[in-house]
Amino acid sequence: MSRLFDVRPNPHPKSEAERAAILADPGFGLHFSDHMAVAIWNPEEGWHDRQVRPYGPFQLDPAAAVLHYAQEIFEGLKAYRHANDSIWLFRPDKNADRFTKSAERLALPVLPHEDFLASIETLVVTDQAWVPGGGESNLYIRPFMFASETFLGVRPAKTVTYACIAGPAGAYFSHGVQPVDIWVSSQYVRAAPGGTGAAKTGGNYASSLIAQQEAYDKGCDQVLFLDGAEKRWVEELGGMNIYLVTSDGELITPSLEGTILEGVTRDSVLTLASEHGLQPVERRISIDELLDGIRSGKITEMFACGTAAVINPVGSLVTEQGRVVVNDGASGRYTDELRRALLDVQYGRVEDTHGWMHKVC
Ligand SMILES: *Cc1c(COP(=O)(O)O)cnc(C)c1O
Repeated sequence: MSRLFDVRPNPHPKSEAERAAILADPGFGLHFSDHMAVAIWNPEEGWHDRQVRPYGPFQLDPAAAVLHYAQEIFEGLKAYRHANDSIWLFRPDKNADRFTKSAERLALPVLPHEDFLASIETLVVTDQAWVPGGGESNLYIRPFMFASETFLGVRPAKTVTYACIAGPAGAYFSHGVQPVDIWVSSQYVRAAPGGTGAAKTGGNYASSLIAQQEAYDKGCDQVLFLDGAEKRWVEELGGMNIYLVTSDGELITPSLEGTILEGVTRDSVLTLASEHGLQPVERRISIDELLDGIRSGKITEMFACGTAAVINPVGSLVTEQGRVVVNDGASGRYTDELRRALLDVQYGRVEDTHGWMHKVC
């Protein structure tokens, strides 16, 4: 194991009984392990004070820049326990690359890849008892970085905090792998050319919450955003990329265009397509083509994908004009196959032919 991060063991970890109760029904994003990784940056010293220390609150000055100007980025990945009790990460190098790109876009300092990986590995090894086993449960890992400098002036912060927390997770959607209903937002956009759509930053989520609220009001689970310039091109959901399957065997996902977040799951599905007899296609697709295609039967399946939910079928799209149902509201054959294929690799049930899995311990 890397020794970049010093481990300061938690003197008061949760008891085995408390942990067992949490692992039995973890939900998502509710419970966290006994430790967290932290490192600090300033221009004089660069990255320093790398520690894995007891999980707990930060002390932040009320004038900390992040609270006012949202200079912040994050990542999301999972640790999986395999049948032989070994613990693995899925393509963490892709998260490290994206964390670098997000940092550059938000004018934050770049955390070296080896620090990113060492923080995660040290945390997971320290809290390995928190990695659930069985089913589709896992340890969700959340690295993030924010402007912790006490300063209300507008410029990139000169004190920055990196941290990584982790918590056990069961299935992402409360009702399991049921097809989700999607509200197509005609009023709000999440990204614009030249904006931060391709960076994983909290601000993108903050600006999408009102549309998410609108989706709930319309009886939907998630929002589909169109492009900011023409409100014509299909982009992605608030936190997941999308895919379509056509009757002639294409697997289409919107091309990135600098406004879509490049998901690790999206990239993995592109790679898996041909193994399932599908032709992967990245191109622009308009909302009219999407709705007409579903109505005519040219588009046979639609699904959303991301680390948290893996692959989730879309049951219907709802617009101001009404509802269009995909595949009779059921999950499709390819959606199920691709989901199974990804999970089989992640949980070590099939050979990892792409070299995607990274062993932690
Ligand atoms: C994280 C995220 C995704 C999915 O990315 P994965 O790497 O597959 O988890 C998609 N869209 C947005 C906006 C995201 O923040």
